[in-house]
Amino acid sequence: MSTLLTNLFLCDGTPDGFMPDAALLIDGETIVWTGMAQQAPAAAAVRDLAGQIVIPGLINTHAHGGMSIQRGCCDDGDLFEWAQTIAPYTSVLSLEDNRFGCELAVMEMVRNGITTACDCTRFGAGIFSDVASAIGMRSLSGALANSPEYRKAGRPNWPLAREETEAAMARHAGNGLVRHFLGAHSPYSCTAELLVEVKRAADKLGVPFVIHLAENAKETEIVHARHGTTPMRWLHDLGVLDERSILAHCIWLDAEEIALLAKTGAGIAHNPVSNAKLASGIAPIPAMRRAGIKVGLGTDSTVSNNSLDIFQEMKASVLLQRAASLDAHIIDAADAFAMATREGARVLGWHDAIGTLVPGKQADLVVLDLDHPLGNTAQRVLSDLVYRAGPQHVREVMVAGSTIYADGHFSNIDATATVAHIKQHYAHTPST
Ligand SMILES: [Zn+2]
Repeated sequence: MSTLLTNLFLCDGTPDGFMPDAALLIDGETIVWTGMAQQAPAAAAVRDLAGQIVIPGLINTHAHGGMSIQRGCCDDGDLFEWAQTIAPYTSVLSLEDNRFGCELAVMEMVRNGITTACDCTRFGAGIFSDVASAIGMRSLSGALANSPEYRKAGRPNWPLAREETEAAMARHAGNGLVRHFLGAHSPYSCTAELLVEVKRAADKLGVPFVIHLAENAKETEIVHARHGTTPMRWLHDLGVLDERSILAHCIWLDAEEIALLAKTGAGIAHNPVSNAKLASGIAPIPAMRRAGIKVGLGTDSTVSNNSLDIFQEMKASVLLQRAASLDAHIIDAADAFAMATREGARVLGWHDAIGTLVPGKQADLVVLDLDHPLGNTAQRVLSDLVYRAGPQHVREVMVAGSTIYADGHFSNIDATATVAHIKQHYAHTPST
């Protein structure tokens, strides 16, 4: 059945793609037409959006939803201090804790206008996709393997991660909302053998390979002491970087590494808020984008952020670069909006279907009430989206043509009952 959304201000996510008095025709899951409202074709159903803004669903290229019940358990310390402090909390997370965390994370993301997330866990590779697809959000998820000799807490998670992922892939066969990856935690917590084995297994399954890379200066010291080279060069020499690799962070890269990375075709998940909070640094995003590297935005987890809000990441991605460089032109709102939408889709390798609102793509969109006092123009809407907007402006979230959230209510989950159940569970089972 076709539905025409009309009387809207369309930001379709393409460069200069701003259109007042627009309409958008959806047939089933797919956008089949966009244009001026006056020229809209006939449709079975018509919805008047009263001048509200419609943007592509925001894309979160890096998250750890399963950790969400431990939100705020450590707010200070650099990456390695932080990892040590949170270990007593996160190493005891059960699969049930993970599922509760994913429910909280997916609901928070959807409220914040996120329609697709790339989510990482350590155990329970299929939990995020089960939860996200039940709520109606799109996901690319999986587990990050690590080598027990470098990451001692808990039991080994490889080849378990591959087995869980294959089971989840079979469970969700034919489900267009669900994709999976195989990943490794980081260069400092994996052996060369494990990295190559995980990448080969990912290639065999035809799925992306995800890893944290060059997040902290100490990581470079550790990897250099062990292997005589930098984390990025080491991964490059091992042959695990290509266009199907998704690299979270990438802060500590030199100019030669940026050029090398551009040749591999790998994409970057940039997490400006988490990177700043953990005092990891500011990733060289302008240089990476100039080199032609795909860069999307990510929230990381509620243990290092502590919110799952791509609006905040857009704003931080601009502010941090300007504050550090003292150059007010180094990056702008259009860059931030691109990273949150079409560039994020390219990082996830999903740009054939999502990231922009153009005919042929999936109807993944967000309706926002951004009512500028002087009226909405392209400049004012872009400015509001990056520097002002938040969940308080999100009126409706649609994924694959289905409304999954509108006016504070989810279509497929009772948020109040879910949160009450989770709180009751922990009231009786004290967590560490
Ligand atoms: Zn991460």
